Amino acid sequence: MNNHHELTSKMFQFRFVSPYTLIGLLALTCWLPLAAAATTPDGAEPTAKTSQWIRAGRVLDVVKGEYATDQLITITDGKITAIEPIPKQAQPNDLWLDWSHLTVLPGLIDAHTHLCDNSHMGRAFDHWALPAASFGIAGVVNAKRTLQAGFTTVRDLSAPYYACVALRDAINAGWVPGPRMHSSGQMITMTGGHGDWGGWMAPEHQVQTPAETVADGTDAVRQAVRLQIQHGVDWIKLSATGGFGTTGTIPGASTYTQAEIQAAVEEAAKRGIGVAAHAHGNDGILNAIAAGVKSIEHGTLMDTQAIKQLKKNNTFVVMDLLAAHYDLIETKKDFTDKQIQTTNEAYYQDYAANFKRAYQAGVRLAFGTDSGVYPHGRNAEQFQLMVDAGMSPIDAIRSATTWAAELLGQEQAVGQIQVGMHADLLAVQGDPLTDIGVLTKVQQVMKGGELVPGD
Ligand SMILES: [Zn+2]
Repeated sequence: MNNHHELTSKMFQFRFVSPYTLIGLLALTCWLPLAAAATTPDGAEPTAKTSQWIRAGRVLDVVKGEYATDQLITITDGKITAIEPIPKQAQPNDLWLDWSHLTVLPGLIDAHTHLCDNSHMGRAFDHWALPAASFGIAGVVNAKRTLQAGFTTVRDLSAPYYACVALRDAINAGWVPGPRMHSSGQMITMTGGHGDWGGWMAPEHQVQTPAETVADGTDAVRQAVRLQIQHGVDWIKLSATGGFGTTGTIPGASTYTQAEIQAAVEEAAKRGIGVAAHAHGNDGILNAIAAGVKSIEHGTLMDTQAIKQLKKNNTFVVMDLLAAHYDLIETKKDFTDKQIQTTNEAYYQDYAANFKRAYQAGVRLAFGTDSGVYPHGRNAEQFQLMVDAGMSPIDAIRSATTWAAELLGQEQAVGQIQVGMHADLLAVQGDPLTDIGVLTKVQQVMKGGELVPGD
């Protein structure tokens, strides 16, 4: 109770010196009952107990693309309850966080992660050589790194053994630090499709693939979706084309039929769950759009027709430039065969050019990096790649805030610094609108009103 009284008196002191609306004696008589009322609203617990204030040098309004300088952000019970110019006579106290030298943005959203996967480690993290628990343990480590990098929300698009469903629950229960997670189960794929990892082995070596991951035909796909929902997923991920990582598949070739994808979309929609379709080639992209998926993942080889359909159907595209750059260029730097480098650089430039075409056509591009393909925590490096590919810095930030929030159906909760939204914030030094690279050097991160400690 002592604490409570102390906080109340500090809050009172703060109110007393803040001429928000009225000046002079009249203001004082108005503030007194207000301050008193705030501590005893209908007998409820005083909100002052959990309030805190951030003095922000500038705050980015991502919708307008403008800064407001010298702002005071009030946070109560993990949510933003006020944003206003710092009152001239206000006296900061120890309930204020001083971010007056920093630029404050909404917490970032990565709409395509694999927190429970460390594929970039190659053979050291071989799916078939590790016990299931390894994926959850990797998830704990990677969730913390991702949060510390300023990503306070992620959509996690597939992990073995429902590891990222368990991770989501552990984070929500406060066991381990991590972003707000919207988790899918393992990717649903056809026999021999991208993600049917064991399928290429000789029959005598094959492992049994569970019905919720490899499914053929509309009934089986429905069952796979039902099984995943039974295990608590927030999203369904399926594979509409081949992939670069699965032996025997062709990235440009479609896999599931439109009817199969539509069965998944219908089944998931009953529970308000969206479907994300992995798709590189045009046929698969068009099938998935027509079937009503919420987002196309990669969209690597999309042509003009695909771009037109994406725009027409308001389908989001998540283009993982960072994973592509890591895979095609960064990890091939030391190859002695220079031809490989040249070819890969050309592949990357084609992908970046498609990103630009989609952007210029007005396709909705949500930020997503395919983390796990590259080392976790480097997510923000993708902003520079997006700007280099032709996107404006404010749109790159929007793609990881308002646009991604809309894809997740979370636009009322995250993605902006607005009253009523979660106090998910990050602070950087410098101006991301003129140097997007500053987003890789995060100074402070807050999730739900709680500061995220660095290591
Ligand atoms: Zn992925």
